[in-house]
Amino acid sequence: MSAEAAAREAICRFGRSLYDRGLTPGSSGNLSVRLEGGRFLMTPTNAALGALDPARLSLVDANGAALAGDPPTKESFLHLAMYRERARSGAVVHLHSSHAVAVSCLADTDPAQVLPPITAYYVMRVGRLPLVPYFRPGDRDLADAVGALASRHHAVLLANHGPVVAGSTLEAAVHAIEELEETAKLHLLLRGAPVRRLSEAQLDELERLFPN
Ligand SMILES: [Zn+2]
Repeated sequence: MSAEAAAREAICRFGRSLYDRGLTPGSSGNLSVRLEGGRFLMTPTNAALGALDPARLSLVDANGAALAGDPPTKESFLHLAMYRERARSGAVVHLHSSHAVAVSCLADTDPAQVLPPITAYYVMRVGRLPLVPYFRPGDRDLADAVGALASRHHAVLLANHGPVVAGSTLEAAVHAIEELEETAKLHLLLRGAPVRRLSEAQLDELERLFPN
């Protein structure tokens, strides 16, 4: 199987898995993979992640111009902003997952670190999660805001919208965004209760042993 055929199969397989577990509703959410030659495979616009056709995925260039397949997701520019700043990222996942979206709507969060470091796996897979200010759907300024954070963060949370996560592979990006969603759920469960966060020494140890 060629690298492109494998990427097409992986996007459909992970898309179905995310959709079937209720991690992004309706036709929300989009996945992409970097191919050779500055090309990218993206999920099409208005496509439910649970019913993707490998042959109809969108092939786009580095500027988002459609090369083949169905028209790409309207959020393709979010993915390209990540890839532009992260040369080693091979995949990007964006979801409208309930708990992360809920956290993105909270008024009292720290925009430099929206979720607290409460578990080691969250720190290892996501790290420090910044909040990107709100922009209306389709506003290209959102791509600039994501790009401004992307060189230092492989995961960002769009205010009143949802998470965007890059990874070396699609599997790594999916696992990281699932960890982010689970941590958002835990954070909401724990709201109002005194929480023991990981200490600075514990965070330093994780960052040293498991660099993002
Ligand atoms: Zn979105």
